Amino acid sequence: MIELIVHGAAGRMGRRVLALAAERAAEFAIVAGVDREPGTLRGLGIASEAPLLTETPARPGAVVVDFSHHSAFAPLVQHCAAHGMALVSGTTGIAPEVVDRELAAAAARIACLHAGNMSVGVTVLLDAVARLAKALGEGYDIEIVEAHHRHKADAPSGTALALADAIAAATGRTRRDYCYGRQGQTGARRSGEIGIHALRLGDVVGDHTVWFVGRGERILVGHIAHTRDIFAEGALRAAAFLAQAGPGRYSMRQVLGLA
Ligand code: NAD
Repeated sequence: MIELIVHGAAGRMGRRVLALAAERAAEFAIVAGVDREPGTLRGLGIASEAPLLTETPARPGAVVVDFSHHSAFAPLVQHCAAHGMALVSGTTGIAPEVVDRELAAAAARIACLHAGNMSVGVTVLLDAVARLAKALGEGYDIEIVEAHHRHKADAPSGTALALADAIAAATGRTRRDYCYGRQGQTGARRSGEIGIHALRLGDVVGDHTVWFVGRGERILVGHIAHTRDIFAEGALRAAAFLAQAGPGRYSMRQVLGLA
């Protein structure tokens, strides 16, 4: 039985993690829910609820699943490491160097994973775009367009960045090559640039399209999330993986057996 603590439990994602874990009661025991807005947890059927993880009893061996806010990330990782709790975080908007620094320090003591997109489809797409970019070569311009619901607080999405990072790693580019939107007298497109564009509208769960355009042809590959449950399912899959794993930093590719 995997003991689960949900961090950001009252949020859109936290609620889906709770609901899906509750459906798999033979595998997961929800031992606590944590949310900055504790009153909002009432009625979710959580045995223990608290506004801060530091106020919940430490549960060594438990797995914390986090979909909350970037500002909570560093103290959350440090608390998990100090109390022997594995951590799956899907929270986005965290500076990559903060993710790397905190997880590198924690990995000596706990199993931990951060992924800007927990879905199986996107994890596979990351492999596919890296291969495409490498095979197509420099003659093809690459731009990423993402769309999300009007409440999303950060841009570009963690997934758009992960797609750009996968392409950059495969083709020798760096984050200095990213171009976030365009406005005004931009001049001609620099070759090697990876354009990243964010749409915010209505109730879109999450769309990502990568455009590869050369002379006379284009390839579009993408992913459309129909429901947030794909991210919650992926997070539970990661939680089950980390519950069995030794200390270290893991990726969704490892969770899916792709690496
Ligand atoms: P949301 O605003 O609906 O929920 C966030 C919840 O976290 C809220 O209930 C809020 O009160 C709580 N919270 C904020 N700061 C906190 C803190 N310091 N301590 C405890 N609780 C805190 O947002 P959401 O749509 O559920 O998304 C949450 C995060 O997950 C965002 O960063 C979003 O981009 C990300 N996300 C990631 C994936 C993925 O696959 N990795 C998928 C969807 C969303």
